[in-house]
Amino acid sequence: MRKATWLGFVCALAIGAGASAQQAALQTAANTLGVARIKTLQFTGSGRNFSVGQNYTSTEPWPAVPVKSYTAVINFDTGAMRVDMTREMGPVMPRGGGAPFFGEQRQIQVVSGNYAWNLPAPAPNAPAGGGAAAPQPGAQLERMLALWALPQGFVKAAMANNATTRSARGGTEVSFVVGGKYKMTGTINAQGQVEKVQTWIDHPIVGDMLVETTYSGYKDFGGVMFPTRILQTQDGYPSLDLTISAVMANPTFDVPVPDNVRTAKPAPVMVASQKLADGVFYLTGGSHHSLAIEMRDHIVVVDTPQTEERALAVLAKAKELIPNKPIRFVVTSHHHWDHLGGIRTAMDEGATIVTHQSNKAFLERVAKTPHTIVPDRLAASKKPVKIQTVGDKGVLTDGMRTIELHRLQGYEHAGDMLVVYLPKEKILAEPDAFTPPPQAGTPLIPPAVLYAKALYDNIQRLKLDVKTIAGLHGNRLGDMAELAKAAGVSGAAN
Ligand SMILES: [Zn+2]
Repeated sequence: MRKATWLGFVCALAIGAGASAQQAALQTAANTLGVARIKTLQFTGSGRNFSVGQNYTSTEPWPAVPVKSYTAVINFDTGAMRVDMTREMGPVMPRGGGAPFFGEQRQIQVVSGNYAWNLPAPAPNAPAGGGAAAPQPGAQLERMLALWALPQGFVKAAMANNATTRSARGGTEVSFVVGGKYKMTGTINAQGQVEKVQTWIDHPIVGDMLVETTYSGYKDFGGVMFPTRILQTQDGYPSLDLTISAVMANPTFDVPVPDNVRTAKPAPVMVASQKLADGVFYLTGGSHHSLAIEMRDHIVVVDTPQTEERALAVLAKAKELIPNKPIRFVVTSHHHWDHLGGIRTAMDEGATIVTHQSNKAFLERVAKTPHTIVPDRLAASKKPVKIQTVGDKGVLTDGMRTIELHRLQGYEHAGDMLVVYLPKEKILAEPDAFTPPPQAGTPLIPPAVLYAKALYDNIQRLKLDVKTIAGLHGNRLGDMAELAKAAGVSGAAN
């Protein structure tokens, strides 16, 4: 695993004698960017960040969220970075997904060596850093690579990791490997400015995911050359877009790793089950739920979310509850990455993936995408993918039980959302449109009211007779009366 390599690799800032012209470009960049004298760095800006994996359809860019303020402080010697960001949301979310919020939302994200964590937002005007840290081991790699992708960080890392250089369009291309396995490639222009850095991180759905950061509009911020614009893309679409307003060299920044972060163990994957009707099981136990439905000679699973680990546990639970039948179909509620995280596991299982027609090309790509950083089961088995597409309505039936899939219309969270309706059992399953709040009667925040209203309107339009709403999030079942109330529908007949 990733041991102390992150901390140790920035040690020497020297290049060998007899360096080529391209190697000289690295030295020019080091001089231009003040790499030797800059040990810590702070920059401040504003712009937008984007909800990666939450596009409205699988062919559109990530939804943008306004970022009112963004301050990053970095210690290159210790390999630490803290980002303090305040985002702002009105009563309507941008089209697409992302956890709904309303008003201002402050996020403090830290990485140091092999550890990553988030800090709760302190009271207004209080200094950052108070409160209990929430370990974020899954974010360590992305944050660490973002640190070393910064212009000064990239040149430091290149010099410490025996970078290879070659002449390329627009300047010199510099490549090296950090942490033993993570490739970084960047371009340095004739002025010694880092213009573009590419890194790849493992993602359960899209495999070796390209994270590309471009830096432009360099200027002298009181003695520090730094870009005025930072634009990062993930899997091809913008993920962060910042305009930089201030930069400071060598601020004091030391961040000890909190004890609870250092000793944190990953939460075990647990799948609980609840029988909703004969042969219909609600699979919970985490943040994202699934359904297992027994058919005459096979099993239908709805959603294999999050990760391969979760998907394997969900598929195993389905087979335990419904023994001696194969999982022939896995239905995707929609393409958002949190719900689709185990889709490659479902493909490896040999199941036919049932999805809205707009996802066909995306899932064909997902089935074949290079997955070399952390190979999964499908990377080994290379099983051919089987996809069955659905338009506005799809039906799975064995002559006894019928499963209807209906695409929600007028639903701004996702254009491909298929709700799952069992007409005989009067059960409707859906994620994201309506999640019963932990305490019944708690009003939803404004953006979530609109989603609940869209679900309510679709149920009316389709004349579905729903008794039970099985949210694929949340900790309890809902019903039509609660949905109507949450959606602000008065005098609802149901
Ligand atoms: Zn979603």
